[in-house]
Amino acid sequence: MIELPEAAVLAKQIGKAATGKRIKKVAAAKSPHKFAWYYGDPKEYHGLLVGKAIGTAASYGGLVEIPVSDATLLFGDGVNLRYYETEEAIPEKHQLWIEFEDRSSLVGSVQMYGGLWAFPVGSLDNKYYKMAKEKIPPLSDAFNGTHFDSLFCEKTNKLSLKAFLATQQRIPGLGNGVLQDILFNAKMHPKRKINTLSSKDKKELLDSLKLTLTQMVAGGGRDTETDLHGKHGGYKTVLSRNTVNKPCLVCGTIIKKEAYMGGSIYFCPTCQKI
Ligand SMILES: [Zn+2]
Repeated sequence: MIELPEAAVLAKQIGKAATGKRIKKVAAAKSPHKFAWYYGDPKEYHGLLVGKAIGTAASYGGLVEIPVSDATLLFGDGVNLRYYETEEAIPEKHQLWIEFEDRSSLVGSVQMYGGLWAFPVGSLDNKYYKMAKEKIPPLSDAFNGTHFDSLFCEKTNKLSLKAFLATQQRIPGLGNGVLQDILFNAKMHPKRKINTLSSKDKKELLDSLKLTLTQMVAGGGRDTETDLHGKHGGYKTVLSRNTVNKPCLVCGTIIKKEAYMGGSIYFCPTCQKI
C-alpha cells in the first residue's frame, strides 16, 4: 500500500520520468476490476487527456497527483504505479495505461482496491482527497507540538495508538504500514491507550513520527513496497512481514504479529509496552 513515504518517492520519480511528456493514448479499465475506482466513465479518459502534457507530480498524504493541463490524474493508496520505456514491457493486465508520444508509458494496476481518477481540474468530490490536500503534512514545519497536541481530544482518549495514528486521516499518509516502525521507535505498543500518554510521551511520539517518516522517504520508501521502476524501497522496515518471528534489533526478543483492527500489527513484546 502506498503511504506517505512511497507517495513522496513516486511523485519524485514521476517528475523525473514523465514531466513534459505529451499523452498519445489512454486505455482505462481494459482489465475489469471490481474495486478499481474511476472518475465518471473511464472510456472518456482518452478524450480528456490526449495531446496534453504531464506537469509536475506531487504527493498529498498517500495520494499521488499529476497535473495534466486542465485535467488532473490522481492515484490512491492501493494502486501499483509503474513506468515503462517501451510498450513491450507492459504487463497484460492493467487498469490504466497512459502512453506518451515517445512510446514510454505510465501504467496503473490494482490488486485489492484503488482509485485511478482522471478529471477536469477541481471536479473530483472525494472526502479523502480534500482532507489529504487541506490537512497539515506531517513532515512540514507547521506539523509541530502545538498542532500534534490539537489532534488529541476527549474522543481520542479511548482509542489505541493504532486507531489514533492510522484511522480518520488525522495524519495524512500515515497508515497501518508506517505506524509499526513509528511505534517501535517510540517504544510504544500499538494497543496502548491514548489516555495513558503523558506530555513527554506525546513529544516522544511526535519525534519518532517525524524521524521515522523522514528516514523512510530518504531511503526511497519501505522495503515491503515497490517504486515506479518495480524496485523495493531502500528503507529496511524494523517491524513488517519481512521481520516477523525474527529477533528484535534492539533486545533480541522475537518480533510478534497479531491481527488487530482489520490488519496486522507487529511489535517487540519487550521494547514496546502496553
Ligand atoms: Zn525489542
